[in-house]
Order: sequence, then structure tokens, then C-alpha cells
Amino acid sequence: MYTKQKLIVLLLITVITNAVAQQKQGDPALTEIWNPVPKIITPGKLSTDPPSDAIVLFGKSKDSVLWESKTGKAFNWKAVDDHFTVVPFSGDLHTKQSFGDCQLHIEWRTPAEVTGEGQGRGNSGVFLMSLYELQVLDSYNNVTYSNGQAGSIYKQHMPMVNVSRPPGEWQTYDIIFTAPQFYADGMLKSAARITVSQNGVLIQNNVELWGPMQFIGIPKYEKHEAKAPLLLQDHHNTVSFRNIWIREL
Ligand code: MG
Repeated sequence: MYTKQKLIVLLLITVITNAVAQQKQGDPALTEIWNPVPKIITPGKLSTDPPSDAIVLFGKSKDSVLWESKTGKAFNWKAVDDHFTVVPFSGDLHTKQSFGDCQLHIEWRTPAEVTGEGQGRGNSGVFLMSLYELQVLDSYNNVTYSNGQAGSIYKQHMPMVNVSRPPGEWQTYDIIFTAPQFYADGMLKSAARITVSQNGVLIQNNVELWGPMQFIGIPKYEKHEAKAPLLLQDHHNTVSFRNIWIREL
């Protein structure tokens, strides 16, 4: 007589043997995808150079025509050669073009001369769709709330590590952003998601955003367009930006 356990083991062996046999007989072509073919693009010489299919949002000073102030005025920050700098109290700056799902590369530098502390030191922000803030801050030996330091999704997700370079040095953000989706009646269909590397190190891993940046209180989604401009924050500190490029996904 077989015990109950022996019967279960025998049954399992039979099931597994059958599955393996079926897989051997099957056509491997059934799981091959030949079409569509991923588009061939040319990578940049350095990983931070824009690849051939990127939209360059700022490479040199003449690219400032691609940006305008939040009040609809022309570019009013300070562009010098390959970078531009916040002019304190001039207001936020945004691209004329709108974007949804994207891969974004942006380099930023907080002032070499350290003034202020906490949120008052080298503060700016990369606002995807003008709403969702990836914080820019001098977080090198600068204590503040964790979900407000450099690399945080402001007041939502703290970065996994603090990989900040010292003030005055250029730093990189490589961002993969998935826009939120809404039903026709305004209900949220799927939340925004973001993956971020700072200086080549993963700091946000496909985190779900709770809603637009909210300085006070709990964030809440409200239906908006599928695409919106990329916005950079004037937080009254002379933060600089360069080598900004984006790939629509
Ligand atoms: Mg900020």
C-alpha cells in the first residue's frame, strides 16, 4: 500500500515529466518575436551624450529659445555657453514643447559658494509634466528631511542612497518617467511612475507617485493632459543646468 505522501510525490513526478515532454515537442518559433524590430539608433560617444533620436533641450546657449518663463515670457535665466543658471526670483522656466512618457537626462550644479542650509541650499527641482518634482538640492553635508533631499520625489519618496557630489560639481540625473493615466470621468487609471539614477547610481526604482508635488498636505491626482512641459524650479538659489536631452517613449 502507498502512503498518501508517496502518492502525492508520484503524482508530482508524473505532472513534471509530462510538462517537460510537452515542452520538448513544442515549436520554439511560437515564442519568437520577429516583428516589430527595435529601431536602430547611434549611441553618443559618452553615456551622457545625447543619442541620435534624442530631443536636445539644452546643449548650447542658443537652445534657450526652446524655453520660456512660467508667465509666458521669453527665456529669462542666465545662459552662458553650455549651461544656464537660475536668476533668483525670475520665476520657473519650462520647455515650450510638452512631454508624457520619457527618458530624460539632465545635469545640474549647486553653487560652489555655500550659503544657507537645509532646503535653502542649492534648491531647485526637475518637474516632470510641470507637476511631479524630482528634488534638486545641495545634499552634501546638508541635513534636511529625507524625502526633501536631493534625489527625492519631493515629500513622497526619499532616495535609496545619497550619492551627492560636493557643491560646485556637476551631477547627473537619468530619469525614466511614466505619465499617469486618467479615465474620461477624471478618475485615476494608473499612477505616474519614476526611475532615477543620480551620478550613475540607482536612487529611485520605479516608484509610484502619490500625485503632483504638494508642499503642504497630501498629494492628490487631478486629471490633466497626456503631455505637459518640463519645468525647472526657481527656488531663489543660483543652480545651473546643462546637457538636457529627452527621448519620448
Ligand atoms: Mg525644489
